[in-house]
Amino acid sequence: MKKIIVSACLLGDKCKYDGHSNYVPLVKQLREKFDIIPICPEVNGGMSTPRTPSEIQGDRVVNQKGKDVTKYFDKGVQYVLGAVKYFDVQIAVLKEKSPSCGVNKIYDGSFNGKLIDGQGWLTRELTKLGVKVYSEDQIEELLNEN
Ligand code: SF4
Repeated sequence: MKKIIVSACLLGDKCKYDGHSNYVPLVKQLREKFDIIPICPEVNGGMSTPRTPSEIQGDRVVNQKGKDVTKYFDKGVQYVLGAVKYFDVQIAVLKEKSPSCGVNKIYDGSFNGKLIDGQGWLTRELTKLGVKVYSEDQIEELLNEN
């Protein structure tokens, strides 16, 4: 079976900033077709759960209290890229709108709930590597393609 990485919160892990998950039932079907490697770049980068939410502001990531958390995001990205290269992962399913995992949309950095077109901190690097990234809204598309 092909190995894919999946945002751990979509699988039911309570690693979201507020201590909840973002579980989606369709991941059951993903498990039938793929060998899933769960990742959470924010936790992998050393952040605790729950944690203050963060947004991307230009070339850095800042949390809602104004603290620059870019170094944690960078560390998390390096961790995940290590796994992607080691296991030769070509496909990712990531949580839309997250500052780490967002696929097509992220928040604009103002903490006012405004979405813009863009990718999360991890998604950008995966895309550069040539990994095909799907959001949780595109799982059916991925299932149909494989
Ligand atoms: Fe989910 Fe990604 Fe946020 Fe972790 S960093 S909680 S995997 S969206």
